[in-house]
Amino acid sequence: MKINALPIKWRITVWTSLWMCFFFLLYNLVQFVVLDRWMLLEEEHAIKKRMDEIIGYYEDNEARDVSASRSFLEKVNQNNQLIRVLDESGKPLLTINEGLPDQWVLPKAVSTRELTSIWHSQDHLLIVRSPIHIGSLTGTIEIIRELENYEKLNHFLLLIMAIGGLGGIAFSTFGGILLGRQFVKPIAQLTETMGNIKYNGLSQRVDFIDNRDELSKLSQIFNEMMDRLEGSFKKQNQFVEDASHELRTPIAIIEGHLKMLSRWGKDDPSILNESLNASLEELARLKGLTQDLLASSHAEPLPGQNQTDPCLILTKVVDDFSVIHPAFLFEMKTQSLSNVTLDISAHHFKQIIMIVMDNAIKYSGDQKNIVISGSITKDKEIQIQITDNGIGIPEEHIPQLFDRFYRVDKARSRKVGGSGLGLSIAKRLVEAYNGTISLTSREHHGTVVTIKLPRSTE
Ligand code: ATP
Ligand code: MG
Repeated sequence: MKINALPIKWRITVWTSLWMCFFFLLYNLVQFVVLDRWMLLEEEHAIKKRMDEIIGYYEDNEARDVSASRSFLEKVNQNNQLIRVLDESGKPLLTINEGLPDQWVLPKAVSTRELTSIWHSQDHLLIVRSPIHIGSLTGTIEIIRELENYEKLNHFLLLIMAIGGLGGIAFSTFGGILLGRQFVKPIAQLTETMGNIKYNGLSQRVDFIDNRDELSKLSQIFNEMMDRLEGSFKKQNQFVEDASHELRTPIAIIEGHLKMLSRWGKDDPSILNESLNASLEELARLKGLTQDLLASSHAEPLPGQNQTDPCLILTKVVDDFSVIHPAFLFEMKTQSLSNVTLDISAHHFKQIIMIVMDNAIKYSGDQKNIVISGSITKDKEIQIQITDNGIGIPEEHIPQLFDRFYRVDKARSRKVGGSGLGLSIAKRLVEAYNGTISLTSREHHGTVVTIKLPRSTE
């Protein structure tokens, strides 16, 4: 199998193990060779020294007879070593032998000093030969030494290094595994998180530990990317929900007008005209909303540059709702607003009022009268209140009403339908124009929604 086909973790493990192993073995080998050379040199040094001692002895004593030097040679000889004195032709005159058979090395006369090492089957022998003058005799001295200690030490060293080498391989493999794991952990984490995102949605994040390395940077960037992605996904989602919510009312209004026309409007020119105009206006609004939807963005609220006549819009909304809900009685108390203009786009103002009116109608129960009143507050703000006498809202629900998808008592609201989006959209719009929206209610008595909006500047 190719190494590149392995998972990263194992690739790192294999590579680091191989490299560590290689260097360890190389180091061991060098160390072994150096030690071996050094020990051999020590042995050579010792044997040469012995030779010098013997030559020195013969020079000092002007030796008369070779056999007289036997006791001296016996003294300087040691275990596993052989000393031989040869005559000119290489015939042994004297052999001192301690545990080393003399037939292992044949005698040989020399004219200059020489040092050799040979193998006699399993035994490593070091030989030094040197010419010598003893009285009238010119001969050769041989010292032959079995390198037993050196070999023992050598074997021991080899054993230690082999054990060390095996240990080194084990350690480097272990180290490689650790390193591989350490390195791959953040990547595995990243992979796991991505897998979770696939199944559990965009809210998952990588556990971020700032090690100031490339991988923590990667996790950080990944998390930031997910934040943005989730943000835009939520916005997109919210927009689609809001848009479908907002399309509902204009469609219902157009449907109401068309039904009225088909029933008896055809013969009454004034109703015909009015209904057609109202329908066209709602269609225009629908078109605007659809364009927003296609452009994937809401019309941007632009506070500070609007001049909307609240009475006009409120009257239109009431007229539209009267068409789809003929049983309702709408009471307008908006005289005090007759000469003011609002700093909000007509389009958005209508949207807000429709959301609140829609609720007032939906949750009115049997009390089918709704009051729309307008006034100017002490802070010179314009206040619009829409009051119904319907089912009301239990106190504890009021704080959450403006949350998206929040609906009081699912059972009672299911009957009238709805998604719990209306008030949250209204709140977002009102606040975009620096206004406020609030709600007070008594259960079974009714609800008052208060909208405050700034006047147009100038
Ligand atoms: P949607 O408007 O999206 O169709 P919805 O009317 O349920 O659904 P919201 O307009 O946000 O959503 O209203 C939230 C909840 O507040 C409603 O479900 C209803 O229980 C309660 N609520 C709102 N206005 C009134 C009201 N005038 N009278 C009684 N309850 C109301
Ligand atoms: Mg609603």
